[in-house]
Amino acid sequence: MSKSAFVDFKAVKAAITMEQVLEHYGILDKFKRGTDSLNGPCPIHKGSNPTQFRISLSKNIWNCFSDCEHGGNVLDFIAKMEKVSIHAAALKAIVWFGLDTEAMSAESDKGESAKKDNAAPAPKSVSKKLASPAPPAEKGVPNAPLKFRLDKLEREHPYLMQERGLTLETIVDFGIGFCSKGMMADRIAIPIHNVKGEVVAYAGRFPGEPDEDIPKYKLPTGFRKSQELFNLDRAIKESPDKPLVIVEGFFDCMKIHQHGYKKVVAIMGSSLSLAQEELIRQHTNSQSQIIVMLDENDAGKAGREDIASRLSKFCFVRVHQFPQPDMEPEHLTDDELANIVEGLK
Ligand SMILES: [Zn+2]
Repeated sequence: MSKSAFVDFKAVKAAITMEQVLEHYGILDKFKRGTDSLNGPCPIHKGSNPTQFRISLSKNIWNCFSDCEHGGNVLDFIAKMEKVSIHAAALKAIVWFGLDTEAMSAESDKGESAKKDNAAPAPKSVSKKLASPAPPAEKGVPNAPLKFRLDKLEREHPYLMQERGLTLETIVDFGIGFCSKGMMADRIAIPIHNVKGEVVAYAGRFPGEPDEDIPKYKLPTGFRKSQELFNLDRAIKESPDKPLVIVEGFFDCMKIHQHGYKKVVAIMGSSLSLAQEELIRQHTNSQSQIIVMLDENDAGKAGREDIASRLSKFCFVRVHQFPQPDMEPEHLTDDELANIVEGLK
């Protein structure tokens, strides 16, 4: 990475945890674990009092109540430990943890982007695509492929196998699993691929019913889910004669896939964005068939009407209705799913 590289501090901060950093320094075992905290002697001023340095795991911040009388985020910590600037600390973190340097940095023209901490980093691929016309503003810039992978995901997690009824084969096939560290810690990480099959984000599903203040899904800052269709990269490899099934959620998609029907995509919500419509348009022709199978609730009903009217302008569209209110594809019994899938083939 060149020295002029502008580092997206926010992305680096979101990608690493205090726990990982302590582990990097080989001092994690000096800390006592609380519900949401790690407590130990301050590694910055090298204190000995085991309660003077406290880390909030959920907020990913630290505080020294003794000599330092100071606290901060994970980059502030590295900066203090290394006695370097925040910029240098972020670069060290990128190297130590093998973070995606393209996603974490963007070439700064004349340093004018130095204040754009809140803006998503401009993917390099965009600036290289000067030859092609700029996409309409509402479609936005594509999500940049990630250069890192979450590893050591726990595949055989009870939430996936018992609660969601997924087989190990499906779990491995979709690359999902319980994540114990990093930005998706304590969540089920679900890789989202772009149409080329590159991972552009991980969605983090809380493994169960979270309290009201905790979101069911966590998506990385800057990631635009409206730009992607979950599983599209694989669905388009299926026969053009088969209908494309559109569902709302990741698990609806995985469940139908598990029953042997692989031409299925999830819109990750109950509405179809313009960018998603464009993706479908690019991979269909006037003979293509689409089956819209959203949840049998108010949002799903409104969504499917809108989707059907938009997509029927360029291909055949059928709306699948469930006889039971509030039914979702994921909650069908194995027999019901098998019947639906049989009807699609
Ligand atoms: Zn201290």
